[in-house]
Amino acid sequence: MEKNIKNKASAYQPISGREFPRFSGIKTFFRLPYAQITDDFDIALFGTPYDGAVSYRPGARFAPALVRECSSLGRGFHMSRAMSLFDQARIADIGDCSVVPIDQKQTYKKIESFATQILKQNKKFISIGGDHSTTLPLLRALAKKYGPLNFIHFDAHLDTYPAAWGCEYHHGSFARHAVEEKLVKPKSMVQIGIRGPLASATDLDFIKKHKIKVYTMDDIRKKNIFDFVKTLPQFVGPTYISFDIDCLDPAYAPGTGTPVPGGLTTYEAQQILRALKIKNLVAADIVEVSPPYDTSQITGLAAVDALFELMCLAAKP
Ligand code: MN
Ligand code: MN
Repeated sequence: MEKNIKNKASAYQPISGREFPRFSGIKTFFRLPYAQITDDFDIALFGTPYDGAVSYRPGARFAPALVRECSSLGRGFHMSRAMSLFDQARIADIGDCSVVPIDQKQTYKKIESFATQILKQNKKFISIGGDHSTTLPLLRALAKKYGPLNFIHFDAHLDTYPAAWGCEYHHGSFARHAVEEKLVKPKSMVQIGIRGPLASATDLDFIKKHKIKVYTMDDIRKKNIFDFVKTLPQFVGPTYISFDIDCLDPAYAPGTGTPVPGGLTTYEAQQILRALKIKNLVAADIVEVSPPYDTSQITGLAAVDALFELMCLAAKP
């Protein structure tokens, strides 16, 4: 059996860094094969290069290219998990989802239908955004298949804010729409890394009304990180993780649209991701990486590290 899995997985190994040094070759996520949606593998990685819904600094449309570039340094064996990821699951880069940079409505439709195609093939997926508005059409596709999902949301921001400039759909409102459209279950939803300042106290009304569990930075830092992670709930049933890179402190992730000081370290984010107890992670995303504001690819590397953890969580049987 073990041998069988290895044989099946052998077609989905990263390019060897000995044969082709890590600075060489055509860039795919983790140097994995570029594949078609219909090919026989388990987890699809793709870029969603749309940032037409940001309220401040743009640039997240360039994230898939940066993350592919930085992921050349990725490795397959997870030390803490003692897990050989690419022997455990067949993972491939299926390229980018098609988007329309000047039209959000068309882009949402394209993202939803792209995700639907992947789900029809009974595959899991991880999207590398894109601004946080791209999560909503992904959740719409998932909810059609699974019903309302458990939802783990890493962010500095609540993203439950009202319309901005008269526009309902922006990167700070996707979580509110996800709840209102019943794509996620508020009682099985957690937000991690939240911190102020807020526009006003009324910003908290939505999460209070829907009883959404919020772990603020104060909640996280009050305890030792290893004690904190023990307080996280377990997730049974189809679960989605959305990882807004701005949950990290700007010192660890400067390349993002709306940075907020006082955030997680990359080490703390690793510990939280490693401690999550999820029965069935069906999909995930990493959003809000903005390469034009990145420094020395710090943010790109942080995204690669989060992607590695997400792949390990999705690969677990
Ligand atoms: Mn966000
Ligand atoms: Mn954010």
